[in-house]
Amino acid sequence: MFTGPFIRINGNPLLLINVVERRFSILGQIFWPQDTVIFAVAMLVFLTAIIIFTTAFGRLWCGWTCPQTVMMEMVFRKIEYFIEGDAHEQRTLDAAPWTRKKIAKKLIKHAVFFGLSFIIGNTLLSYLIGSADLFRIITDNPLNHLVGLTFMVLFTLLFYAIFARFREQACTFICPYGRLQSTMLDENTLVVAYDFKRGEKRGPLRRAQAAGERHAAGFGDCINCRQCVAVCPTGIDIRNGTQMECVNCAACIDACDAVMDKIGRPRGLIRYASLNRIQSGGPHRFTARMTVYLAVLAALVAIFLILVFTRSDVETILLRAPGSLFQKTADGKIENLYLLKMINKTAQDIAVELKLEDIPGALRVMGAGNLVVPAAQLAHTSVLIELDSATLRGANTKLKIGVYSKSSGRLLGTINTVFVGPRLQ
Ligand code: SF4
Ligand code: SF4
Repeated sequence: MFTGPFIRINGNPLLLINVVERRFSILGQIFWPQDTVIFAVAMLVFLTAIIIFTTAFGRLWCGWTCPQTVMMEMVFRKIEYFIEGDAHEQRTLDAAPWTRKKIAKKLIKHAVFFGLSFIIGNTLLSYLIGSADLFRIITDNPLNHLVGLTFMVLFTLLFYAIFARFREQACTFICPYGRLQSTMLDENTLVVAYDFKRGEKRGPLRRAQAAGERHAAGFGDCINCRQCVAVCPTGIDIRNGTQMECVNCAACIDACDAVMDKIGRPRGLIRYASLNRIQSGGPHRFTARMTVYLAVLAALVAIFLILVFTRSDVETILLRAPGSLFQKTADGKIENLYLLKMINKTAQDIAVELKLEDIPGALRVMGAGNLVVPAAQLAHTSVLIELDSATLRGANTKLKIGVYSKSSGRLLGTINTVFVGPRLQ
């Protein structure tokens, strides 16, 4: 996450989502607003993959991959534990009067949290505007970058508020994926689950009570120690069943396994399992619903790959100049004026050449002799096409124009347009 903005592929960022300038780079491929179809299909692939993944594996994303959980559990909470001690010690510290030691601990913790939030906020900003622009904001005169600096402060405060105060409430109250997951889970989904068949009836373990004795008395393996509840970052009791607040972090699995080790019972009273698997004891099944979702995903991925690999390096838009019809030259030829817009989607300048493909005539690009489209930029110019009136096929003649790379002679794309001339007698 932190190195992503500095990784370049073919000179382009690994990931850039510059909404303001409408420039996007994914895996080093530059996408423009004209690539909306590819972007839309990519979003569909992403959403379908999430649905399939959630249907099969529950909220595995939330517990193990989501940056919010990873940063919270692996960075911020570890720092908090290091400075203030475990959950019990933290509660004691919070209830204690404000001594020098308590003030020092709180100050150090919040200073570290704020510094980390600043780094995270800047990382997010560099994914939005690019690392070079971020560096410019940091090193240039601040008065020239008031908007950028404002966002830098806002992102820092936002992440500080999330990691210092809001925490898992972001997963339960804000994250739309967390809210939607209940519609994607079914009884075959792999989730963090309490094996109620093995655990119930729960009850405290009496000293020197053997497992056989305990079971004969109608008790299961759960000794109601509530360790699974104590370690849960969202404060739920997984023994009440799958709940929206569960982020699949598996902390309760570890806590319960440790308890099972101590009382000499097999691990896995809380484990990754589906409801059907717990009820029937059978293997995890691949359901018809997941098969259909997978087929849809495969089709979308195929469409996406076709769109990406057939995408031209240069996108060309040729429109007739507004308000112009045609002009007759002194030697009886007919001229039409067009406006040309070219977008270079690569990280290298491209010199291009336009040629009339299936009709004799002259095509002149106005202005500079060589038409060069700068890397990852737009080029505007005008084009004049001149045809012999004998070659016209009526008032409107269809034209096909080839766009070629000047250096390699490779065809980059073709444009279809219309040439307007006088009505034929
Ligand atoms: S940690 Fe295990 S034994 Fe203890 S209450 Fe939770 S499920 Fe029961
Ligand atoms: S119930 Fe278990 S897996 Fe779910 S959030 Fe709580 S500790 Fe994590």
